[in-house]
Amino acid sequence: MKPNIEMKTNCCQSPQEVTQQASSNQDNLHLPVAVIGAGPVGLAAAAHLASYEQPFILLESGSQVGENILTWGHVQVFSPWKYNMDKSALKLLKKQDWNEPDQDELPTGKALVDQYLKPLGNTLEIKNSLFVNTKVLSISRKNTDKMKTANREEQPFIIYAEQNDKLVQFEARAVIDATGIWGNPNPANSNGIWLKEEKEINHQIFYGIPDIVGKDKDRYLNKRVAVVGSGHSAINSLLELAKLKEVHPATEIVWILRKNRVKEAFGGEELDALEARGALGRRIHKLVNSNVFEVITPFRIQHVNEKEGKIELMGESQGELKAISEIDEVVVNTGNRPDFSNLSEVRTSIDSATESVKALAPLIDPNIHSCGTVRAHGEKELRQPEKYLYIVGAKSYGRAPTFLMATGYEQVRSVVAYLSGDDEAAKKVKLDLPETGVCSTNLNATNSCC
Ligand SMILES: Cc1cc2nc3c(=O)[nH]c(=O)nc-3n(C[C@H](O)[C@H](O)[C@H](O)COP(=O)(O)OP(=O)(O)OC[C@H]3O[C@@H](n4cnc5c(N)ncnc54)[C@H](O)[C@@H]3O)c2cc1C
Repeated sequence: MKPNIEMKTNCCQSPQEVTQQASSNQDNLHLPVAVIGAGPVGLAAAAHLASYEQPFILLESGSQVGENILTWGHVQVFSPWKYNMDKSALKLLKKQDWNEPDQDELPTGKALVDQYLKPLGNTLEIKNSLFVNTKVLSISRKNTDKMKTANREEQPFIIYAEQNDKLVQFEARAVIDATGIWGNPNPANSNGIWLKEEKEINHQIFYGIPDIVGKDKDRYLNKRVAVVGSGHSAINSLLELAKLKEVHPATEIVWILRKNRVKEAFGGEELDALEARGALGRRIHKLVNSNVFEVITPFRIQHVNEKEGKIELMGESQGELKAISEIDEVVVNTGNRPDFSNLSEVRTSIDSATESVKALAPLIDPNIHSCGTVRAHGEKELRQPEKYLYIVGAKSYGRAPTFLMATGYEQVRSVVAYLSGDDEAAKKVKLDLPETGVCSTNLNATNSCC
């Protein structure tokens, strides 16, 4: 059944009112599209839905929009504002009193939220459809569990969410899952397994990028700190620790990587089309050459143990089992993984290696492609076996670490065009992404980019 592009509805209802309206109306076309997650991609989906005058609800687990980004708000991103804002969102923002940031400047995560995502969430077209403190727990088809096929597509989606400690339900004609992957980290364990021993040392391990020269300074100064990982997050953590060491030279920094050679972590450097992303690699390269860090590579962590208040990492290196001891703090930057628990009652097609949307895997798998070489894609590639369900944004890439906001904006532009009956716009996908400078295909496992 094709949604009606001319449908209009009241966007300003409470969840209970939305459910009531849905129950008394058999025609799914009158139901809103539910967007889950008010990060940059979920908000962009909302902006596109508003521009097509489609009713929608935007459900966000945090107390405000951009909640995941705020956990690394002190970090400067590497793509300038011009790549970080969605075109439909810009149209809404320009209709109101809004200070447009300088297109070529690099915002921090916090600036991204304060200067772009918050004002966007506050626009007339979005604010009354946004429900914060609303964590989606499960999505299903009404009266139709995962096994049942008959009339499946005619049933509305039913969404269970926890809102201020209460269970609420929403009905929707389509679901766009933009819940991201941040907040669901990989462990330090090189086999990818969350062992109980690692979980239990949570007070001396940080998963993410701590504010090392800001509010978390006392935790790290003059300590022996191990950073695990080799992507951009690890590089950001190391650069901050290096700044701390300049002022507090007793701080010791140990960099632990699985890669065979540390230089594989430097990326495209001067070849990178995003100047700031290349600069991250150049700066870390220089610090490695100046012996600011003790670099241990390859080292594949097997066990994380606590010993008399310190941490010991047991791992495999060049075929031998070795220990890295006397560590006060560990910063784990080994990537994130998607959480599919909210989708267990709907039919999805997920790649078994990357955990990305299946059709995207050949485009993004870091075992085959280097970062940034992503062909434009849209509704067609993002389709799930469950009709009118889409996984978009960082979650659509699964564990692949190369997602950029601009990719997500093009994804939701195409998906929303399709859901609004604008097939022509849905099919035309176009994406200009700056190359990383390490672009190649058929990389072998040890030479992959992230
Ligand atoms: C340090 C760092 C630097 C980066 N730099 C760049 C850069 O320069 N350029 C670039 O393009 N990208 C950059 N990225 C990547 C970019 O920030 C992410 O890809 C982007 O935030 C993904 O957007 P998203 O909307 O898909 O997910 P998120 O931003 O993760 O948003 C998901 C939202 O969903 C909410 N949510 C989660 N679960 C639920 C639930 N069950 N119910 C309801 N809501 C839920 C979360 O609270 C969150 O608000 C960077 C990332 C990091 C970590």
